[in-house]
Amino acid sequence: MVISRMSTTTVNNPDCIFCQIATGAIPATVVADDGELMAFPDIHPRAPVHLIIIPKAHVMRSVAEMTDDQTALLGRMIALAKKLAEEKGIADDGYRLVFNVRHHGGQEVDHVHLHLLGGQPLGPLG
Ligand code: AMP
Ligand code: ZN
Repeated sequence: MVISRMSTTTVNNPDCIFCQIATGAIPATVVADDGELMAFPDIHPRAPVHLIIIPKAHVMRSVAEMTDDQTALLGRMIALAKKLAEEKGIADDGYRLVFNVRHHGGQEVDHVHLHLLGGQPLGPLG
């Protein structure tokens, strides 16, 4: 696996699905893009609203790799999810935010991402 550094702030892994979405190589319906973060619908939605929020750069595979200087980035991902939940009209009823972490967490794509799910009662976890 070759990870290329395109600039001092942008790291891209050409083998990674979410990096390819970030660069536009794989199409997605982009619902947010502030240069640092991007959001798009999950291709296999598990709820009426199911968005994926990513950092556009391949900065960590999962929360398990997070370093102290990356906590603010994770906070900005949560803040974007909150904003999108409001925009989608699901904030008042509530929603679920999920970081799947590694194999036992059910993580399939090794590019850190946050799931925003809502639009109906989601029931208990698990
Ligand atoms: P996780 O299991 O937490 O790694 O979640 C990865 C998610 O990415 C899954 O829910 C997939 O349905 C979703 N996914 C995979 N490929 C794409 C794609 N090309 N566009 C949108 N979502 C995708
Ligand atoms: Zn990636």
